Amino acid sequence: MSSIASDLFLNAASGKKLLGAYLIICSRPLVARRLIDAFLMRLCCKKGGCGACADCRKALEGHVDILRLTAPKIAELRDALAFVAEQPYEAPRKVVVIEGADDMPVQAANSLLKTLEEPPPGTVFILSARSVCGVLPTIASRCAIVPLTPGPDAPRAIAKALSVDDATARILADLSGGFPDEARRIRDDADFLARRAETIAHCQKLLRQHNMAISAFADFLENNKEHIIPLLCIMQSYLRDILVFIKTRDAGFIANVDYLDDIRDAANRFTSGAISNMINVILDTERRFLSPVNFRLAAEKMLFCLLEEKHRWQK
Ligand SMILES: [Zn+2]
Repeated sequence: MSSIASDLFLNAASGKKLLGAYLIICSRPLVARRLIDAFLMRLCCKKGGCGACADCRKALEGHVDILRLTAPKIAELRDALAFVAEQPYEAPRKVVVIEGADDMPVQAANSLLKTLEEPPPGTVFILSARSVCGVLPTIASRCAIVPLTPGPDAPRAIAKALSVDDATARILADLSGGFPDEARRIRDDADFLARRAETIAHCQKLLRQHNMAISAFADFLENNKEHIIPLLCIMQSYLRDILVFIKTRDAGFIANVDYLDDIRDAANRFTSGAISNMINVILDTERRFLSPVNFRLAAEKMLFCLLEEKHRWQK
């Protein structure tokens, strides 16, 4: 995901012009995470982020000088402040990574203000959020913003970069958030299309069947645990298409063009309120899955909430 902003950010890790606080804005949490991982490897590695040495491995899997938090509550942030009060042991800096900065409780966000204003020497804070609107302005204004925004014509760029047809490019552009590197990663995963088909089939059952048992869907998600974030992206993408069709009745805006008939059919059976609430349930769950969690419980909770929205709003 090369852009001027991300290049400057990465170069800061190996240079001397490292600032005290950054805020990465990206609609795809996994894309933001990959950039953060690359930054941390560059910071810790003696070979500039080779990706293979013990330092790089530690940067990704657990480093004494790196603290990773997701949408932290105030108590976790207190621990973070104690963490940065000490000097780094191995890395050139102490790093606090805060993903889901747009989901931090206001009180927690406020507790960070003073530290972000003047981070202790030798520390760097890296925050990430889906959009800058969700972050308190007082937080955003204290950070260097790193916007990761795909170009306006992402599908065409992806079709060209990956030599795929227009329909595939639209699907890949939607699932990758428009980032060609991410689109390539999705396309290169041999089982991806099969998993997408199965995910959409489960979604369709969930939307269609009365008295649907969620266990088969939950089993499927659990068996594909390591792909959970892309699977949730597929679910969001499918539901977003239904929402877009309810609002516009224009197939030209649909990403999952190979499911147009089903999308049209669902658009006739649901209100936009139902579908947007379902999308929010999935976004919430996605955030939860970014940190360690009881997988089965979180997956079932999501499916129950989706069913609840379906019954509450169905036309
Ligand atoms: Zn390395």
